[in-house]
Order: sequence, then C-alpha cells, then structure tokens
Amino acid sequence: MKLIRRPVGDVNERPFMVIWETTHACDLACRHCRAEAQAEHDALALTTEEAKQLLHQVESFGRPRPIFIFTGGDPFKRADLFGLVRYATEIGLPAAVSPSGTPLLTEENLRRLKEAGAKAISLSIDGSSAERHDDFRRVPGSFELTSNGWRAARAIELKTQVNTTVTRYNLHDLPAIFRLVQEIGAMTWSLFFLVPTGRGRQEDEVSPGEHEAVMHFLYDVSKYISAKPVEGHHYKRVVLQRAILEDKGLPPEDYFTLHPVYYELRAGLDEVARHAGLRPRAAGAVHRTPMHINAGNGFVFVSRRGEVFPSGFLPLSGGSVRERSLVDIYRDAPLFRRLRDLSQYGGRCGLCEFAGVCGGSRSRAYAVTGDPLAEEPFCTYQPGSFPFQAELAERLSASVHKAE
Ligand code: SF4
Repeated sequence: MKLIRRPVGDVNERPFMVIWETTHACDLACRHCRAEAQAEHDALALTTEEAKQLLHQVESFGRPRPIFIFTGGDPFKRADLFGLVRYATEIGLPAAVSPSGTPLLTEENLRRLKEAGAKAISLSIDGSSAERHDDFRRVPGSFELTSNGWRAARAIELKTQVNTTVTRYNLHDLPAIFRLVQEIGAMTWSLFFLVPTGRGRQEDEVSPGEHEAVMHFLYDVSKYISAKPVEGHHYKRVVLQRAILEDKGLPPEDYFTLHPVYYELRAGLDEVARHAGLRPRAAGAVHRTPMHINAGNGFVFVSRRGEVFPSGFLPLSGGSVRERSLVDIYRDAPLFRRLRDLSQYGGRCGLCEFAGVCGGSRSRAYAVTGDPLAEEPFCTYQPGSFPFQAELAERLSASVHKAE
C-alpha cells in the first residue's frame, strides 16, 4: 500500500489548501485559541468585496483548484459567510467551513451552508464529556451545542470532520473522545498538536515522548477510521516505520522506546474497538494515508486582514493580499521559497531521511526557537537510526504518489 500522498501538481506553484481566517470574533474563549478570539468583529478585516477578490486570487492558481477553508474565530459571526461560500462554489473552489460550538451552530445555519455549496464542516471536540470539553472551551454549554451541531450535520448529510487539540488536559481522554468520534460517524478525526502561539501556552503542550506516543496511538486509530494530525508532521515517519514493522510481523515495542502513555492509550482504544465491534484494517494498511503538505509548502493561511502566513501557527507574514496577489506571495515571497527548500532545514531535520515526506512542524520550530527552519523540537527521532533502511528507501520512493 502507498502510504504518503502528495498533492497533484507542483506545490511550488499552487497550494493544496488555502485557509482564510474570516474573523477573530467568537463567543468561545478557548484555552489554546490561535486567533486569540474576541467578542467583536475586527473593523479592519477584509470586506466582502475584498474577500471575493481573495477567492478570485485562489481560483487563479489554476487546476486542480485549492481547497478553500473558511475558519475563524467563528465564521458564523460574518453575515456575508453564506454569500461568500456560494461565491467560492460558483467559481469552482471546493469550500469547507470550521464553525465554533456556539448558539450560532444551528441546523438552519448548517443547511444554509450546504445549500451554498459547502462540501464539509469541521467541529471541535476536546473532551469526552461536557465537563471536560466546556472546561477547555471555557464556556458552559459548548459541548451540548457542538453535539447538536454534529447531529444536525448528520441529519442533512453534511460531511463532518472532528478536530481535537491535544494538550496535557485531554491526553488521557483521547480513547474516550475516539469513542465519540466513531459514534458520530465523522468523516475524519484530526488531532491538532498544540503550537504555543496565540493563547496556546508551552506548558499546555504534551512532552516530546508523549507526542510520539500519541502518534503511535493515531496510527492504531487509523486502522479503524480516517485519522490525521495537524502540526504533527512526524506522524508520516511513524506511519512508514510502523507499516514496515507490520509487514515483517515485528511488534513496535521492540523497536521504539515508547512512553507509558502509549500503552494506556492503546489499551483504551482496544477496549473501545472491542465494545463497538470495530474491525481493524490489515497489517500495513491504514484508513487514510497522510498528505505531504507543510507550512508554505502546499499550505497557506490568510489572516482576517489579508496578511499571508505559511501556517496559522507561524506568525511570519509573506505580504498582504491587499497589496499583492496571493499567487505571487505564495510562489515568490522569500520566506515561502525558503520553507520549500529542504536544504535550508537545520539540525536533525536537515539530516533526516524522512525530511522529504515530513520536514517537521515549521510552526513549532519557530515558536520554540525563533527560527522557522530549525529542527522540529518535539520529534524524538535520530536520523539514520531506523534499522530497516533498505525497505524504507523503497517505501519512500514508492509510497509518495499523487493524491486523487
Ligand atoms: S527529524 Fe525532522 S524530518 Fe526527521 S522525522 Fe523528525 S521531524 Fe521529521
């Protein structure tokens, strides 16, 4: 099985995904909020006309069109959201929306999104109970509103991705959250590995060893449902390593020094799977092969005021869409060109045989060291240490294929 996907076309020319922060207004006050959301909409945010110009800039990247994500804050705080989703759809951009779990997350609003052409939504669940989730989101009732939202989305057959931000607050709750995710029937479970930016604090992050444990857990989860990481790029290394070991019938515990939390998470997952009667995929196969995109490299984030960043977690601007086309910034801004040049990466990432499919989190490197090209500080791998290098070289060339 081919295990890592690459976007169709040249990522130097065209991103696979564009995310636009429609607003930073939101009725939640989440612990980790990248946007440091506020109650009021920013008067200097892109206007409706400017947003339409942004959509045209995205369209002008050419085919296949990048996926366009409306995020926030809470996109429902913009009155023009439905019109902009419709406009994106009309000019051929696949659109998705990331609303917040607030009273605005109604069946009526979701139905309007679907009618406007939205292909999918994503909802955040950060705890398996109302108490845990609401504590994280810092607003009582958010869990119930989110639960109502996913039921409404399912009723109108609007695809739903569930996002969970992994922090020290919910690390041990992940198997129980998985139970919820598979009960919801979510299209994908996306685990965000916290980057200490915005309201996210370094002390809320799990340790590098726990990161590694969660990635092995995510691999086990991907035997049952579609699962992926965000800002956890070394998951692609884990997928390749685990698949090679599985092909050989070798247990991971003999080849990795895994943090004890991995065994706890795996036991929890096994229990949930047994209880739900889930059947795992065959050895070496997972439900969703990860896509190789990274900050400024197949991926680009546009702020509410039109500043262009390689990622929403990497606050270095390549320019503003108010002054220059997104296409020019993405293709030519020195920051973006450097991020796509692996020879510029420092430390272990600069030496690593996995760099071509991984590259580490450039956002975390910047947040921790101040250098976006420094090594990924939370990856525990020593380049060259995986014992099956011949099989790996074969996988690295054969597994990198075009995404459909
Ligand atoms: S050292 Fe860097 S490139 Fe290698 S697996 Fe870790 S994060 Fe990825």
